Amino acid sequence: MAKPISVVIGGQSVAPGESRTIDVELPGLYTQAETHMPVQVIRGLKKGPRMFVSGVIHGDELNGMEIIRRVLNHNSLKRIKGTLVAVPIVNVYGCINRSRYLPDGRDLNRVFPGSPRGSMASRLAHLFMQEIVLNSDYGIDLHTAGGHRDNLPQVRMSPDIPATQDMAQAFGAPVILNADLRDRSLRHAALKAGIPMLLYEGGAALSYDEVAIRAGVRGVISVMREIGMLPRVRKKKSILPLVSSRSGWTRAPDSGVFRNHSRLGEIVKKGQVLGRISHPIGHDEVEIKAKRSGVLIGCTRLPLVHEGEALFHIATLKELDGATDTIDQFHEAHSPEQEGDLRRKGEPPVF
Ligand SMILES: [Zn+2]
Repeated sequence: MAKPISVVIGGQSVAPGESRTIDVELPGLYTQAETHMPVQVIRGLKKGPRMFVSGVIHGDELNGMEIIRRVLNHNSLKRIKGTLVAVPIVNVYGCINRSRYLPDGRDLNRVFPGSPRGSMASRLAHLFMQEIVLNSDYGIDLHTAGGHRDNLPQVRMSPDIPATQDMAQAFGAPVILNADLRDRSLRHAALKAGIPMLLYEGGAALSYDEVAIRAGVRGVISVMREIGMLPRVRKKKSILPLVSSRSGWTRAPDSGVFRNHSRLGEIVKKGQVLGRISHPIGHDEVEIKAKRSGVLIGCTRLPLVHEGEALFHIATLKELDGATDTIDQFHEAHSPEQEGDLRRKGEPPVF
């Protein structure tokens, strides 16, 4: 299983037992400022798998950066087997501009596997594939909702590679979505190359969401335990994730000012009123009714909507009974108020 005997990234090799920051050189800015993608490599003395964890592929989705920072400072990494390759900011250009996109207007997650002679985005995708992804045995890519939306913590996986199912269960997010592969996404390219990869979504762009960050840290560490990079711990009471194979958006039936009457993680029934849209003065009010039953995994945060805009993302569930308990247990386990309890139990804090 463990692929590399040597670990070489950006032309620098990392020896067993070594932890090193490598600045992988990227094409510079037009100001002639040099640009680098920071990569932290932690290699254990003992052999084991190699896993990458990446954040900020979309330049304004910042939770992943903080999840990686906390993972890298996690006590348990002292006992690592194999190699963790952590890339907190993949889309350095977008992050500088606080934008989802690259300066050429392209979405990095729609140009994988990229090409050394392609567009600016395509070249970055190619470099990331060559330096990071293709030398890994596993991967986790960290995202938040895009635009002005918010996501319930969730992992997206493709059932085609069985190992991703075990990773998804181990991650411990409240929802697992067997999502269709988006053409030319990193997940698509990694799975085509036979590398089991999870995509984690949680929170919103340009902000930190404490619950989503804590769940992300716990998730990455749990996956490392699952694939043999860290010792397993005695099974704590873990949540049984809600698994969904289908999801869809409920869209704005009219343009106007939007009021949300629901909350992320709520179990909703088809036809249930999730919010209302009205004229700014208050008349011509219309109800927004759920297009399907399931768990609310994403919603818009903007009160201004045009007809047809995606407002509520609902994942279908086979069984609605008991689903609320899963969401409640998840929030209980990851809310900052539990920190004192975790310390008392002797568990390392996740921040
Ligand atoms: Zn994203």
